[in-house]
Amino acid sequence: MPRDGHTISRKQISANALKVLYRLHNSGYQAYLVGGGVRDLLLGLEPKDFDVVTNATPEEIKKLFRNCRLVGRRFRLAHIVFGRDVIEVATFRGHHADGNETTSKTNAAGRLLRDNVYGDIDQDAERRDFTVNALYYDIKDYSIRSYGGGVHDLQNRVLRLIGDPQTRYREDPVRMLRAVRFAGKLGMKIDPQTAAPIKPLAPLLKDIPAARMYEEVLKLFFAGKAGQNLRLMREYHLFEPLFPLVEAQLKDSPKGPAMRMLTEVMHNTDARILEDKPVTPAYFFAALLWYPLQSRAQDIALESGLTRYDAFYAAMGDVLEQQCQSISIPRRFSTPARDIWQLQLRFERSKGGRAFKLLEHPKFRAAYDLLLMRANAEGGNLAKQASWWQQFVDADDEQRKQLASGSNQGTSRNRNSNQRRRPRRRKVSDGDGAGASE
Ligand code: ATP
Ligand code: MG
Repeated sequence: MPRDGHTISRKQISANALKVLYRLHNSGYQAYLVGGGVRDLLLGLEPKDFDVVTNATPEEIKKLFRNCRLVGRRFRLAHIVFGRDVIEVATFRGHHADGNETTSKTNAAGRLLRDNVYGDIDQDAERRDFTVNALYYDIKDYSIRSYGGGVHDLQNRVLRLIGDPQTRYREDPVRMLRAVRFAGKLGMKIDPQTAAPIKPLAPLLKDIPAARMYEEVLKLFFAGKAGQNLRLMREYHLFEPLFPLVEAQLKDSPKGPAMRMLTEVMHNTDARILEDKPVTPAYFFAALLWYPLQSRAQDIALESGLTRYDAFYAAMGDVLEQQCQSISIPRRFSTPARDIWQLQLRFERSKGGRAFKLLEHPKFRAAYDLLLMRANAEGGNLAKQASWWQQFVDADDEQRKQLASGSNQGTSRNRNSNQRRRPRRRKVSDGDGAGASE
């Protein structure tokens, strides 16, 4: 497509991406904007990032840019760093040379462990995942090259894998997640042949390194389409390999509190993104894993006779450890997730100074939000507890003092002040308000 055959103008491309494209071009290399950037511009969307591809090797790219870092093993790339903006520059991929393990390697299941054979643009296009991602904007003459019918598929809103779908999913099972994500994000239909192998091959996702999975999960759930992606992932059996503990809860009770929680988490996350409010993986994982945590804590309490509090503590470790086998949640998020969980127990006791102390906890807000969601999911006593806290949060100082000295949420029977002080020990063993048991 020549320049006058399409709508992309340089004004829509970031200044940094243009800088990289021109530097490569002026140094005698080919340079293209590729993939999602071109696709989104053609669709009238704002690209998330701009990726560049060239015939210069990573080492040659490094010589051209002082601000260049070479990254990746499976897939060597150059990052050109402009402050917080990073332009990713890849070298054209070629076909896999047989037997050369230093450049290309697959495991027994056909998964690509290394993919560093360089080639030309035609070969590169065949190595891309979907036809709508095999679009190249040439900085030399501002034309667009489309492979495998990419522009045609874009116009018809069809997501189609390049090559044999089975083979391509086996090479990289993450492509199954990408199919679902792009279908949702771009409002495209997954071509039947591209869709067919997903369910049977979904278990292959279990072999993907947990760190890469974490990145994918962020893209799936923190881009304003969480609800839609969840539905599609469950439809295609892609949710289970990522969140086995959560899926087990959903199977146990398809309309139970875990399902309501999950739906609400996704809904709230999407709403916050839409309003440009911050979202944190700590809260997201704490909420998603709340019911698996409950169920694990109950099992531990039954098996070991530990107090409810101690069983809950042990279960936090178990659940996080298990979840991190498929998705490695960074510690900077799993630590506050634990705080959010522990605060749920502390919400049960709010008399005297306790409620004021809780209010000052750095994770109070997130924990309070989780309490409200649990209440929505379960109702009952928990709803009373939540509404007490809601009153407390909304009240002024004087009203708060009254509330805190008065009743302890829905569970209070003894308003009489001389009955208020109970032996301290009961704090850990009584009550059963941690959610699922109510
Ligand atoms: P977005 O950035 O909006 O998530 P994108 O299409 O730009 O979408 P990236 O992950 O940024 O996705 O990748 C850039 C391009 O690299 C893709 O458009 C595609 O051509 C290629 N690509 C990315 N991941 C894969 C993969 N797993 N298999 C094959 N090609 C891929
Ligand atoms: Mg991109």
